[in-house]
Amino acid sequence: MTRSHRSVRHEPETSVELNPLFSRPGESTIFPRFTLPDGESLPGTAYQVVHDEVMLDGNSRLNLATFVGTWMEREASQLYAETFDKNMIDKDEYPQTALIETRCWRMLADLWNAPDPAAAIGTSTIGSSEACMLAGLALKRRWQHSRRAAKKPTDTPNIVVSSAVQVCWEKFCNYWEVEARYVPVSAEHPTLDGHDLERYVDENTIGVVAIMGVTYTGAYEPVDLISAALDRIQADTGLDIPIHVDGASGAMVAPFLQPDLVWDFRLPRVASINTSGHKYGLVYPGLGWIVWRDQQALPEDLVFHVSYLGGDMPTFALNFSRPGAQVLLQYYLFLRLGFAGYRSVQASSRDVALYLSHEIGAMDAFTLWSDGSDIPVFAWQLTDGHTRNWNLHHLSERLRMNGWLVPAYPLPDGLSDITVQRIVVRNGFTRDLAASFLADLKKDVAYLDALTGPMPDGQQKEAFHH
Ligand SMILES: *Cc1c(COP(=O)(O)O)cnc(C)c1O
Repeated sequence: MTRSHRSVRHEPETSVELNPLFSRPGESTIFPRFTLPDGESLPGTAYQVVHDEVMLDGNSRLNLATFVGTWMEREASQLYAETFDKNMIDKDEYPQTALIETRCWRMLADLWNAPDPAAAIGTSTIGSSEACMLAGLALKRRWQHSRRAAKKPTDTPNIVVSSAVQVCWEKFCNYWEVEARYVPVSAEHPTLDGHDLERYVDENTIGVVAIMGVTYTGAYEPVDLISAALDRIQADTGLDIPIHVDGASGAMVAPFLQPDLVWDFRLPRVASINTSGHKYGLVYPGLGWIVWRDQQALPEDLVFHVSYLGGDMPTFALNFSRPGAQVLLQYYLFLRLGFAGYRSVQASSRDVALYLSHEIGAMDAFTLWSDGSDIPVFAWQLTDGHTRNWNLHHLSERLRMNGWLVPAYPLPDGLSDITVQRIVVRNGFTRDLAASFLADLKKDVAYLDALTGPMPDGQQKEAFHH
Protein backbone atom coordinates (compact mmCIF):
# COMPACT_ATOMS: atom_id res chain seq x y z
CA MET A 1 0.00 0.00 0.00
CA THR A 2 2.16 2.87 -1.14
CA ARG A 3 0.37 6.10 -0.57
CA SER A 4 1.84 9.50 -1.11
CA HIS A 5 -0.63 11.07 1.32
CA ARG A 6 2.09 12.50 3.44
CA SER A 7 5.09 12.34 1.22
CA VAL A 8 7.82 10.02 2.36
CA ARG A 9 10.23 11.90 4.60
CA HIS A 10 13.58 12.68 3.06
CA GLU A 11 16.21 11.52 5.46
CA PRO A 12 19.40 13.35 6.34
CA GLU A 13 22.69 11.57 5.68
CA THR A 14 23.53 11.73 9.40
CA SER A 15 23.81 8.63 11.57
CA VAL A 16 20.96 7.02 13.47
CA GLU A 17 21.77 7.93 17.08
CA LEU A 18 20.42 6.23 20.09
CA ASN A 19 20.65 7.48 23.63
CA PRO A 20 22.50 4.88 25.69
CA LEU A 21 19.20 3.25 26.64
CA PHE A 22 20.71 0.27 28.38
CA SER A 23 24.15 1.65 29.21
CA ARG A 24 25.76 -1.71 28.61
CA PRO A 25 29.48 -1.87 28.13
CA GLY A 26 30.44 -2.12 24.49
CA GLU A 27 26.97 -1.18 23.30
CA SER A 28 26.73 0.62 19.98
CA THR A 29 24.67 3.77 20.12
CA ILE A 30 25.44 5.21 16.69
CA PHE A 31 24.54 3.45 13.47
CA PRO A 32 25.26 4.68 9.96
CA ARG A 33 21.96 5.35 8.22
CA PHE A 34 22.71 4.15 4.69
CA THR A 35 25.70 1.86 5.00
CA LEU A 36 26.02 -1.48 6.72
CA PRO A 37 27.44 -0.97 10.25
CA ASP A 38 31.04 -2.18 10.57
CA GLY A 39 30.35 -4.54 13.43
CA GLU A 40 27.73 -6.19 15.56
CA SER A 41 25.38 -4.73 18.14
CA LEU A 42 23.51 -6.44 20.95
CA PRO A 43 20.17 -8.04 20.01
CA GLY A 44 18.33 -5.88 22.53
CA THR A 45 19.84 -2.73 21.08
CA ALA A 46 19.03 -3.58 17.46
CA TYR A 47 15.52 -4.55 18.53
CA GLN A 48 15.05 -1.27 20.36
CA VAL A 49 16.21 0.81 17.39
CA VAL A 50 13.83 -0.87 14.96
CA HIS A 51 11.00 -0.92 17.47
CA ASP A 52 11.36 2.78 18.18
CA GLU A 53 11.62 3.76 14.51
CA VAL A 54 8.31 2.13 13.59
CA MET A 55 6.62 3.74 16.58
CA LEU A 56 6.34 6.78 14.31
CA ASP A 57 4.25 4.89 11.75
CA GLY A 58 0.51 5.52 11.94
CA ASN A 59 -1.62 3.34 14.22
CA SER A 60 -2.85 0.59 11.91
CA ARG A 61 -6.22 0.27 13.67
CA LEU A 62 -6.95 3.97 13.01
CA ASN A 63 -5.96 3.57 9.36
CA LEU A 64 -9.29 3.93 7.59
CA ALA A 65 -7.52 4.09 4.23
CA THR A 66 -6.39 0.51 3.80
CA PHE A 67 -8.29 -2.61 2.81
CA VAL A 68 -5.66 -4.85 4.32
CA GLY A 69 -6.11 -6.78 7.54
CA THR A 70 -4.78 -5.16 10.70
CA TRP A 71 -6.26 -7.40 13.34
CA MET A 72 -6.40 -11.14 14.00
CA GLU A 73 -7.23 -12.98 17.18
CA ARG A 74 -4.61 -14.30 19.56
CA GLU A 75 -4.71 -17.93 18.37
CA ALA A 76 -3.99 -16.73 14.84
CA SER A 77 -0.94 -14.82 16.04
CA GLN A 78 0.24 -17.92 17.86
CA LEU A 79 -0.16 -20.01 14.73
CA TYR A 80 1.62 -17.32 12.73
CA ALA A 81 4.58 -17.39 15.12
CA GLU A 82 4.71 -21.20 14.89
CA THR A 83 4.73 -21.27 11.09
CA PHE A 84 6.55 -18.21 9.79
CA ASP A 85 9.50 -20.39 8.81
CA LYS A 86 7.54 -22.26 6.15
CA ASN A 87 8.30 -21.59 2.50
CA MET A 88 5.23 -22.14 0.32
CA ILE A 89 7.30 -23.43 -2.61
CA ASP A 90 8.84 -26.28 -0.61
CA LYS A 91 5.95 -28.59 -1.37
CA ASP A 92 8.18 -31.60 -0.87
CA GLU A 93 9.35 -30.52 2.60
CA TYR A 94 5.99 -29.17 3.75
CA PRO A 95 3.49 -31.47 2.07
CA GLN A 96 0.82 -30.72 4.64
CA THR A 97 0.99 -26.99 3.96
CA ALA A 98 0.70 -27.78 0.24
CA LEU A 99 -2.41 -29.89 0.86
CA ILE A 100 -3.93 -27.14 2.96
CA GLU A 101 -3.33 -24.62 0.19
CA THR A 102 -5.31 -26.84 -2.18
CA ARG A 103 -8.11 -27.28 0.36
CA CYS A 104 -8.38 -23.49 0.63
CA TRP A 105 -8.71 -22.73 -3.08
CA ARG A 106 -11.09 -25.67 -3.50
CA MET A 107 -13.25 -24.08 -0.80
CA LEU A 108 -13.11 -20.79 -2.68
CA ALA A 109 -14.03 -22.51 -5.98
CA ASP A 110 -17.06 -23.90 -4.20
CA LEU A 111 -17.91 -20.58 -2.52
CA TRP A 112 -17.74 -18.92 -5.96
CA ASN A 113 -20.02 -21.56 -7.46
CA ALA A 114 -17.61 -23.27 -9.84
CA PRO A 115 -19.72 -25.78 -11.79
CA ASP A 116 -17.34 -28.56 -10.70
CA PRO A 117 -14.95 -27.41 -7.94
CA ALA A 118 -12.93 -30.61 -8.36
CA ALA A 119 -12.25 -29.63 -11.99
CA ALA A 120 -11.31 -26.05 -11.08
CA ILE A 121 -7.68 -25.04 -10.65
CA GLY A 122 -6.27 -22.42 -8.35
CA THR A 123 -3.37 -21.22 -6.26
CA SER A 124 -2.41 -18.89 -3.47
CA THR A 125 -0.35 -15.83 -4.34
CA ILE A 126 1.36 -13.02 -2.46
CA GLY A 127 -1.70 -10.80 -2.98
CA SER A 128 -4.32 -9.87 -5.54
CA SER A 129 -1.76 -8.07 -7.67
CA GLU A 130 0.13 -11.30 -8.38
CA ALA A 131 -3.19 -13.10 -8.82
CA CYS A 132 -4.29 -10.49 -11.41
CA MET A 133 -0.96 -10.85 -13.26
CA LEU A 134 -1.57 -14.61 -13.47
CA ALA A 135 -5.17 -14.07 -14.58
CA GLY A 136 -4.08 -11.66 -17.28
CA LEU A 137 -1.31 -13.99 -18.45
CA ALA A 138 -3.76 -16.87 -18.76
CA LEU A 139 -6.14 -14.69 -20.81
CA LYS A 140 -3.29 -13.54 -23.02
CA ARG A 141 -1.96 -17.06 -23.61
CA ARG A 142 -5.44 -18.43 -24.39
CA TRP A 143 -5.96 -15.65 -26.91
CA GLN A 144 -2.51 -16.31 -28.45
CA HIS A 145 -3.30 -20.00 -28.83
CA SER A 146 -6.56 -19.38 -30.60
CA ARG A 147 -5.04 -16.69 -32.84
CA ARG A 148 -2.14 -18.96 -33.82
CA ALA A 149 -4.53 -21.80 -34.53
CA ALA A 150 -6.36 -19.44 -36.89
CA LYS A 151 -3.03 -18.29 -38.44
CA LYS A 152 -3.63 -14.74 -37.27
CA PRO A 153 -1.12 -12.28 -35.77
CA THR A 154 -0.66 -12.05 -32.01
CA ASP A 155 1.24 -8.78 -31.71
CA THR A 156 -1.48 -6.36 -30.54
CA PRO A 157 -3.44 -7.82 -27.60
CA ASN A 158 -5.71 -5.53 -25.61
CA ILE A 159 -7.73 -5.84 -22.42
CA VAL A 160 -10.84 -3.82 -21.52
CA VAL A 161 -11.06 -2.34 -18.03
CA SER A 162 -12.84 0.51 -16.29
CA SER A 163 -10.90 3.75 -15.77
CA ALA A 164 -11.51 3.07 -12.06
CA VAL A 165 -9.41 -0.09 -12.22
CA GLN A 166 -6.83 -0.83 -9.54
CA VAL A 167 -3.22 0.03 -10.41
CA CYS A 168 -2.25 -3.66 -10.68
CA TRP A 169 -4.01 -3.79 -14.08
CA GLU A 170 -1.98 -0.85 -15.33
CA LYS A 171 1.07 -2.78 -14.21
CA PHE A 172 -0.10 -5.93 -15.96
CA CYS A 173 -0.56 -4.02 -19.21
CA ASN A 174 2.79 -2.28 -18.89
CA TYR A 175 4.83 -5.33 -17.85
CA TRP A 176 3.27 -7.78 -20.32
CA GLU A 177 2.73 -5.36 -23.20
CA VAL A 178 -1.01 -5.52 -23.49
CA GLU A 179 -2.89 -2.40 -24.55
CA ALA A 180 -5.23 -1.18 -21.80
CA ARG A 181 -8.57 0.01 -23.15
CA TYR A 182 -10.12 2.12 -20.45
CA VAL A 183 -13.87 2.64 -20.38
CA PRO A 184 -14.23 6.00 -18.59
CA VAL A 185 -16.56 6.27 -15.61
CA SER A 186 -19.18 9.01 -15.77
CA ALA A 187 -22.10 10.33 -13.75
CA GLU A 188 -24.52 8.08 -15.73
CA HIS A 189 -22.18 5.08 -15.69
CA PRO A 190 -20.20 5.27 -12.43
CA THR A 191 -19.01 1.69 -12.99
CA LEU A 192 -18.25 -0.54 -15.97
CA ASP A 193 -21.73 -1.86 -16.77
CA GLY A 194 -21.52 -3.11 -20.34
CA HIS A 195 -22.74 0.07 -22.06
CA ASP A 196 -21.02 0.75 -25.40
CA LEU A 197 -18.77 -2.25 -24.79
CA GLU A 198 -18.84 -3.06 -28.53
CA ARG A 199 -16.84 0.12 -29.12
CA TYR A 200 -13.99 -1.18 -26.99
CA VAL A 201 -13.62 -4.87 -27.87
CA ASP A 202 -12.32 -6.42 -31.06
CA GLU A 203 -10.60 -9.60 -32.24
CA ASN A 204 -7.49 -8.64 -30.24
CA THR A 205 -9.31 -8.39 -26.92
CA ILE A 206 -7.98 -11.02 -24.51
CA GLY A 207 -10.67 -10.34 -21.92
CA VAL A 208 -12.74 -7.87 -19.93
CA VAL A 209 -12.03 -7.22 -16.25
CA ALA A 210 -14.98 -6.69 -13.91
CA ILE A 211 -14.23 -5.29 -10.46
CA MET A 212 -16.12 -6.52 -7.44
CA GLY A 213 -15.57 -3.58 -5.20
CA VAL A 214 -14.21 -0.56 -7.08
CA THR A 215 -11.46 0.75 -4.83
CA TYR A 216 -12.53 4.38 -5.17
CA THR A 217 -16.10 3.95 -3.99
CA GLY A 218 -16.67 0.35 -2.91
CA ALA A 219 -19.38 -0.22 -5.55
CA TYR A 220 -19.69 -3.55 -7.38
CA GLU A 221 -19.53 -3.60 -11.16
CA PRO A 222 -22.53 -5.53 -12.49
CA VAL A 223 -20.76 -8.61 -13.83
CA ASP A 224 -24.06 -10.03 -15.13
CA LEU A 225 -24.66 -6.94 -17.32
CA ILE A 226 -21.09 -7.04 -18.63
CA SER A 227 -21.56 -10.72 -19.41
CA ALA A 228 -24.89 -10.07 -21.17
CA ALA A 229 -23.27 -7.32 -23.28
CA LEU A 230 -20.51 -9.77 -24.29
CA ASP A 231 -23.19 -12.36 -25.16
CA ARG A 232 -24.79 -9.84 -27.55
CA ILE A 233 -21.38 -9.02 -29.01
CA GLN A 234 -20.73 -12.71 -29.58
CA ALA A 235 -24.10 -13.13 -31.29
CA ASP A 236 -23.33 -10.17 -33.58
CA THR A 237 -19.64 -10.72 -34.30
CA GLY A 238 -18.69 -14.24 -33.24
CA LEU A 239 -16.10 -12.88 -30.74
CA ASP A 240 -16.11 -15.02 -27.59
CA ILE A 241 -14.52 -12.80 -24.94
CA PRO A 242 -13.94 -14.12 -21.39
CA ILE A 243 -14.32 -12.16 -18.15
CA HIS A 244 -11.92 -12.07 -15.24
CA VAL A 245 -13.49 -10.88 -11.99
CA ASP A 246 -11.14 -8.84 -9.81
CA GLY A 247 -12.81 -9.63 -6.50
CA ALA A 248 -9.87 -8.42 -4.38
CA SER A 249 -12.28 -7.31 -1.69
CA GLY A 250 -15.80 -8.21 -2.89
CA ALA A 251 -15.22 -11.91 -3.59
CA MET A 252 -14.96 -12.41 0.18
CA VAL A 253 -17.97 -10.20 0.92
CA ALA A 254 -20.64 -10.77 -1.73
CA PRO A 255 -21.01 -14.56 -1.15
CA PHE A 256 -21.84 -13.89 2.50
CA LEU A 257 -23.90 -10.70 2.31
CA GLN A 258 -25.51 -10.86 -1.14
CA PRO A 259 -25.69 -14.57 -1.97
CA ASP A 260 -28.30 -13.94 -4.67
CA LEU A 261 -26.11 -11.51 -6.58
CA VAL A 262 -24.90 -13.38 -9.68
CA TRP A 263 -21.32 -12.27 -10.31
CA ASP A 264 -19.23 -15.46 -10.11
CA PHE A 265 -18.76 -18.80 -11.93
CA ARG A 266 -22.55 -19.04 -12.24
CA LEU A 267 -21.91 -16.83 -15.28
CA PRO A 268 -20.35 -19.16 -17.88
CA ARG A 269 -18.29 -16.29 -19.29
CA VAL A 270 -16.39 -15.83 -16.01
CA ALA A 271 -13.06 -17.63 -16.58
CA SER A 272 -11.28 -16.71 -13.35
CA ILE A 273 -11.71 -14.88 -10.05
CA ASN A 274 -9.12 -13.49 -7.64
CA THR A 275 -9.34 -12.23 -4.10
CA SER A 276 -6.98 -10.87 -1.46
CA GLY A 277 -6.81 -13.22 1.51
CA HIS A 278 -5.41 -10.24 3.37
CA LYS A 279 -8.44 -8.00 2.71
CA TYR A 280 -11.88 -9.36 3.59
CA GLY A 281 -10.32 -12.83 3.79
CA LEU A 282 -9.23 -11.36 7.17
CA VAL A 283 -5.60 -12.57 7.13
CA TYR A 284 -2.51 -10.40 7.78
CA PRO A 285 -0.75 -8.95 4.68
CA GLY A 286 0.84 -11.30 2.17
CA LEU A 287 -1.93 -13.48 0.73
CA GLY A 288 -4.00 -13.62 -2.44
CA TRP A 289 -5.98 -16.31 -4.22
CA ILE A 290 -6.97 -17.07 -7.78
CA VAL A 291 -9.25 -19.78 -9.13
CA TRP A 292 -9.89 -20.69 -12.78
CA ARG A 293 -13.23 -22.24 -13.67
CA ASP A 294 -11.59 -25.31 -15.26
CA GLN A 295 -8.32 -26.53 -16.71
CA GLN A 296 -9.12 -25.10 -20.16
CA ALA A 297 -9.13 -21.61 -18.67
CA LEU A 298 -5.48 -21.98 -17.64
CA PRO A 299 -3.28 -23.04 -20.58
CA GLU A 300 -1.04 -25.94 -19.62
CA ASP A 301 2.07 -24.32 -21.11
CA LEU A 302 2.01 -21.68 -18.33
CA VAL A 303 2.28 -24.30 -15.61
CA PHE A 304 5.61 -25.43 -14.18
CA HIS A 305 6.14 -28.71 -12.41
CA VAL A 306 8.02 -29.00 -9.14
CA SER A 307 8.76 -32.26 -7.44
CA TYR A 308 6.41 -33.11 -4.64
CA LEU A 309 6.69 -36.18 -2.44
CA GLY A 310 8.59 -37.84 -5.23
CA GLY A 311 5.67 -36.92 -7.46
CA ASP A 312 4.88 -33.81 -9.36
CA MET A 313 3.18 -30.62 -8.23
CA PRO A 314 2.05 -28.10 -10.84
CA THR A 315 2.72 -24.45 -9.96
CA PHE A 316 1.87 -21.16 -11.60
CA ALA A 317 3.38 -18.19 -9.78
CA LEU A 318 5.65 -15.21 -10.36
CA ASN A 319 7.81 -15.71 -7.30
CA PHE A 320 9.52 -18.88 -6.23
CA SER A 321 9.82 -18.59 -2.43
CA ARG A 322 6.94 -17.08 -0.51
CA PRO A 323 5.71 -17.32 3.08
CA GLY A 324 3.46 -20.31 3.75
CA ALA A 325 2.18 -19.08 7.11
CA GLN A 326 -0.50 -16.84 5.60
CA VAL A 327 -2.02 -19.82 3.82
CA LEU A 328 -2.25 -21.62 7.16
CA LEU A 329 -3.83 -18.53 8.71
CA GLN A 330 -6.44 -18.54 5.96
CA TYR A 331 -7.22 -22.17 6.64
CA TYR A 332 -7.42 -21.38 10.35
CA LEU A 333 -10.05 -18.72 9.60
CA PHE A 334 -12.01 -20.97 7.27
CA LEU A 335 -12.25 -23.54 10.07
CA ARG A 336 -12.73 -20.97 12.79
CA LEU A 337 -15.43 -18.87 11.13
CA GLY A 338 -17.10 -21.06 8.55
CA PHE A 339 -19.80 -19.54 6.39
CA ALA A 340 -21.84 -18.19 9.30
CA GLY A 341 -18.82 -16.60 10.96
CA TYR A 342 -17.67 -14.83 7.80
CA ARG A 343 -21.21 -13.65 7.27
CA SER A 344 -21.46 -12.16 10.73
CA VAL A 345 -18.00 -10.51 10.62
CA GLN A 346 -18.69 -8.96 7.18
CA ALA A 347 -22.22 -7.99 8.21
CA SER A 348 -20.98 -6.12 11.23
CA SER A 349 -18.43 -4.23 9.10
CA ARG A 350 -21.22 -3.38 6.68
CA ASP A 351 -23.47 -2.21 9.53
CA VAL A 352 -20.74 0.09 10.84
CA ALA A 353 -20.22 1.40 7.28
CA LEU A 354 -23.95 2.04 6.82
CA TYR A 355 -24.20 3.75 10.20
CA LEU A 356 -21.25 6.02 9.45
CA SER A 357 -22.29 6.79 5.88
CA HIS A 358 -25.81 7.61 7.05
CA GLU A 359 -24.47 10.04 9.66
CA ILE A 360 -21.96 11.60 7.29
CA GLY A 361 -24.52 11.88 4.49
CA ALA A 362 -26.83 13.73 6.89
CA MET A 363 -24.24 16.48 7.45
CA ASP A 364 -24.76 19.61 5.31
CA ALA A 365 -21.12 19.65 4.34
CA PHE A 366 -21.15 16.27 2.62
CA THR A 367 -22.84 14.45 -0.22
CA LEU A 368 -22.41 10.68 -0.31
CA TRP A 369 -20.90 9.03 -3.34
CA SER A 370 -21.65 5.52 -2.06
CA ASP A 371 -22.96 4.16 1.24
CA GLY A 372 -21.10 0.91 1.98
CA SER A 373 -23.92 -1.46 1.04
CA ASP A 374 -21.67 -3.46 -1.34
CA ILE A 375 -18.26 -3.83 0.28
CA PRO A 376 -18.15 -1.91 3.58
CA VAL A 377 -16.42 1.02 1.90
CA PHE A 378 -17.95 4.39 1.12
CA ALA A 379 -16.94 7.78 -0.19
CA TRP A 380 -18.31 11.29 -0.03
CA GLN A 381 -17.65 14.63 -1.63
CA LEU A 382 -17.99 18.17 -0.32
CA THR A 383 -21.53 19.42 -1.03
CA ASP A 384 -21.44 21.89 -3.93
CA GLY A 385 -21.58 25.45 -2.58
CA HIS A 386 -20.96 24.43 1.05
CA THR A 387 -17.76 26.42 1.47
CA ARG A 388 -15.00 28.18 -0.39
CA ASN A 389 -12.71 28.22 2.60
CA TRP A 390 -11.69 24.60 2.88
CA ASN A 391 -11.61 21.33 0.97
CA LEU A 392 -11.41 17.64 1.81
CA HIS A 393 -7.60 17.72 1.88
CA HIS A 394 -7.77 20.21 4.74
CA LEU A 395 -10.24 17.97 6.54
CA SER A 396 -7.97 14.97 5.98
CA GLU A 397 -5.11 16.90 7.62
CA ARG A 398 -7.30 17.86 10.62
CA LEU A 399 -8.44 14.26 11.11
CA ARG A 400 -4.84 13.13 11.04
CA MET A 401 -4.17 15.28 14.10
CA ASN A 402 -6.44 12.88 15.99
CA GLY A 403 -4.70 9.88 14.44
CA TRP A 404 -7.39 9.08 11.84
CA LEU A 405 -6.07 8.30 8.39
CA VAL A 406 -8.81 9.13 5.87
CA PRO A 407 -7.43 9.94 2.42
CA ALA A 408 -8.88 12.54 0.03
CA TYR A 409 -8.27 11.97 -3.66
CA PRO A 410 -9.74 12.75 -7.08
CA LEU A 411 -12.04 10.23 -8.77
CA PRO A 412 -10.59 8.47 -11.84
CA ASP A 413 -10.60 9.72 -15.42
CA GLY A 414 -14.02 10.81 -16.51
CA LEU A 415 -14.86 12.27 -13.07
CA SER A 416 -11.43 13.52 -12.08
CA ASP A 417 -12.65 17.03 -11.22
CA ILE A 418 -14.47 15.53 -8.21
CA THR A 419 -12.50 14.96 -5.01
CA VAL A 420 -13.82 12.41 -2.53
CA GLN A 421 -12.85 11.08 0.84
CA ARG A 422 -13.19 7.37 1.57
CA ILE A 423 -13.47 5.10 4.58
CA VAL A 424 -12.76 1.36 4.48
CA VAL A 425 -14.46 -0.38 7.41
CA ARG A 426 -12.57 -3.51 8.44
CA ASN A 427 -12.95 -6.15 11.11
CA GLY A 428 -11.84 -4.44 14.32
CA PHE A 429 -13.30 -1.01 13.48
CA THR A 430 -16.09 -1.25 16.01
CA ARG A 431 -19.22 0.82 16.27
CA ASP A 432 -17.62 2.43 19.32
CA LEU A 433 -14.53 3.51 17.39
CA ALA A 434 -16.84 4.69 14.60
CA ALA A 435 -18.73 6.89 17.07
CA SER A 436 -15.44 8.40 18.27
CA PHE A 437 -14.46 9.03 14.68
CA LEU A 438 -17.77 10.75 13.98
CA ALA A 439 -17.36 13.03 16.99
CA ASP A 440 -13.91 14.07 15.73
CA LEU A 441 -15.22 14.56 12.20
CA LYS A 442 -18.02 16.84 13.40
CA LYS A 443 -15.64 18.83 15.57
CA ASP A 444 -13.20 19.27 12.67
CA VAL A 445 -15.93 20.35 10.24
CA ALA A 446 -17.22 22.87 12.79
CA TYR A 447 -13.68 24.21 13.18
CA LEU A 448 -13.20 24.55 9.42
CA ASP A 449 -16.67 26.04 8.89
CA ALA A 450 -15.90 28.72 11.50
CA LEU A 451 -12.92 29.99 9.50
CA THR A 452 -13.46 33.49 8.23
CA GLY A 453 -11.16 33.17 5.23
CA PRO A 454 -9.81 30.46 2.96
CA MET A 455 -7.28 27.93 4.27
CA PRO A 456 -3.94 27.98 2.46
CA ASP A 457 -4.03 25.64 -0.50
CA GLY A 458 -4.65 22.05 0.50
CA GLN A 459 -2.53 19.21 -0.75
CA GLN A 460 -2.11 18.92 -4.44
CA LYS A 461 -3.85 16.01 -6.07
CA GLU A 462 -2.30 12.93 -4.65
CA ALA A 463 -1.45 9.87 -6.60
CA PHE A 464 -3.98 7.22 -5.65
CA HIS A 465 -2.72 3.69 -5.75
CA HIS A 466 -5.38 1.55 -4.17
C1 LIG B 1 -6.43 -4.16 -3.40
C2 LIG B 1 -6.84 -4.44 -4.79
C3 LIG B 1 -5.94 -5.00 -5.69
C4 LIG B 1 -4.50 -5.30 -5.32
O1 LIG B 1 -4.50 -6.24 -4.31
P1 LIG B 1 -3.20 -6.55 -3.40
O2 LIG B 1 -3.68 -7.73 -2.62
O3 LIG B 1 -3.02 -5.33 -2.57
O4 LIG B 1 -2.06 -6.82 -4.30
C5 LIG B 1 -6.38 -5.28 -6.96
N1 LIG B 1 -7.64 -5.01 -7.33
C6 LIG B 1 -8.55 -4.46 -6.50
C7 LIG B 1 -9.95 -4.21 -6.98
C8 LIG B 1 -8.18 -4.16 -5.19
O5 LIG B 1 -9.07 -3.64 -4.34
